[in-house]
Amino acid sequence: MNIVLFGAPGCGKGSQAKLITAKYGIPQISTGDILRSEISKNTELGNIAGKYINNGLLLPDDLVIELVKKTLQQPNCQNGFILDGFPRTLNQAQRLLEFINIDVAILIDVNINEVERRALYRRICPVCGKIYNISNKYIEICECGNKLIQREDDKLEVVRHRIEKYLANSEDIIEFFKERKILATVLSGETPEETFVSVDKILSEL
Ligand code: AMP
Repeated sequence: MNIVLFGAPGCGKGSQAKLITAKYGIPQISTGDILRSEISKNTELGNIAGKYINNGLLLPDDLVIELVKKTLQQPNCQNGFILDGFPRTLNQAQRLLEFINIDVAILIDVNINEVERRALYRRICPVCGKIYNISNKYIEICECGNKLIQREDDKLEVVRHRIEKYLANSEDIIEFFKERKILATVLSGETPEETFVSVDKILSEL
């Protein structure tokens, strides 16, 4: 199963990808996670990526497309994958379908007014990657024992940039997947588990 998960920043793509991986055993390919790992390893790509990410800007298409192409050629992606955070522009979507088949592109639809709030309350574990929402319950330590952090690009000004970028590109991407007849839309629920019921229904019908 080759899956694209997309939606506004903070819509819960990452959490859904983890739930799909747990149930179906296919890897989550998160361009954001790959780039953040390059930044922490101080690689050449990481140094370039950091400048864009920390300002809420998208990396140039060519760079990200090459990264995804290379990643999808790895053996662990041969039985399927979940693309999380890619494509983010119409050009990325078009180029993706030139080199790989996608079975379904799932849009996680969230009220845009919710998005800013969700990103501000999001904390992640820098070690195991678990994502928390601290709006109802304040948590500082991950269940794996490490201290949670706020992503640099979840801070208010940066989040606003990311939302603007999403809104500028999303209509074209939605239209493109619709034309290709691979678009499925789910409404983001109160909890990741609630949203997953709809996501899972789509996957089980494939
Ligand atoms: P994410 O973790 O998916 O929210 O991505 C974090 C940041 O990484 C984004 O705000 C962009 O700066 C960069 N990034 C991730 N995926 C892409 C992509 N497909 N195209 C361009 N930039 C990306």
